[in-house]
Amino acid sequence: MKTTTKKRVQMILHEKCPICAEGAVFEKEKKHFFSIPQMKEECSNCGYHFEREPGYFIGAMYISYGLGVLEGLTAFLLSKFFVSEISHVLLFVIIISAILLSSYWNFRKARVIWLNIFPQ
Ligand SMILES: [Zn+2]
Repeated sequence: MKTTTKKRVQMILHEKCPICAEGAVFEKEKKHFFSIPQMKEECSNCGYHFEREPGYFIGAMYISYGLGVLEGLTAFLLSKFFVSEISHVLLFVIIISAILLSSYWNFRKARVIWLNIFPQ
């Protein structure tokens, strides 16, 4: 069965298994605010092992980097658009804050995107 692009996007947004689209990739609970997201070892629905080999998710760092660049660029453009006179230091702080605040989300989405790029 071929998975459509629309289905892949839904699986990424809902962080579901790239094979069955039912099981969650990450644990639900968050231990504390600064905790790293806990990924399940395998799908609770179909048993698909998410980390197929040691270091499998190293490639997801490239995706996380790309997401961070997009968020930093968005923060830069919004800052320039809404504030006419803004210092470089404040602009730097805004961009770094946007990237740091979105790092939890980036970590999760980068891994799910990586799983969906190479599902088998
Ligand atoms: Zn599954």
